Amino acid sequence: MLQTQLRTPSQHFEQTNPLLVAQAEDASESLRNEITAGLYSRPENQNRPRLAHTPDGQPQQNEKRPENSGERTTTHSEHRKDFRQGTARHVGYTELVRDGVFIRKPLEGSVFERTKPVQFIVLHSTETRRVADAERVIDSWNNRGDNGKRVNPGTQFVVDRDGKIYTTASPDKATIHVNDSLTRRGVKNQNSVGIEIVHTGEQQYTYAQKMALTRLVSYLQDRYRIRDSKIVTHGQIQPATRTDPVGFDVSAFHRNRKQFRETAQVLEQQKLRSKGDV
Ligand SMILES: [Zn+2]
Repeated sequence: MLQTQLRTPSQHFEQTNPLLVAQAEDASESLRNEITAGLYSRPENQNRPRLAHTPDGQPQQNEKRPENSGERTTTHSEHRKDFRQGTARHVGYTELVRDGVFIRKPLEGSVFERTKPVQFIVLHSTETRRVADAERVIDSWNNRGDNGKRVNPGTQFVVDRDGKIYTTASPDKATIHVNDSLTRRGVKNQNSVGIEIVHTGEQQYTYAQKMALTRLVSYLQDRYRIRDSKIVTHGQIQPATRTDPVGFDVSAFHRNRKQFRETAQVLEQQKLRSKGDV
């Protein structure tokens, strides 16, 4: 079940199995990171088994468990697992920040109360002039504003090259990531959540990034009941001036996202059933 043949990263992402295995597999976080890293560092080695099973009860490496906080720790890692599997609809934004699923780096200024419910998710890519990581991108947004007095742009989420998800503001709040006067299909800053994928020019989107994006979009879909047709790219809804995310295979993303959600549904039902048995 847990051994899988892998090809190049992009082919790999096209395939159903490894994605689902990575989603459902009950390995520790550190092992999973190792697996994800391995997918990219050694894509040419197809015969090496990448996924190993962690026997039940084996302590997770790299995770220190503080004394007398067993229950809390369990919740943290359960939430992380739920997010990974696509079954975190019951977990709020603040909890996911606390649990380390989202890394908070606030946008200074230009964060607004919403006047409309969230209906859309808009995907972007950063396309900085030079290669820059998520933190630098957010810093540059903050440097464009003037301590909140002026308008500075920014999405609520930034997905870094290594798959880390940064958050600048709660998706319950609106930020400025599209040009309201140029958008189509009714997409506005007020009714959308923006996600920037860290990518510049010829860079390939990494597997870790695509995985993280799949999880994040799926989570937001659940939280705000967003329909598939309302997950759009900046280029699609602002074609006059934007083409991002640049070089991103949107249809492959949607295929994998749907597959991920189907598996999540099965896992959720299994969980409900096992709870019912007790
Ligand atoms: Zn954009």
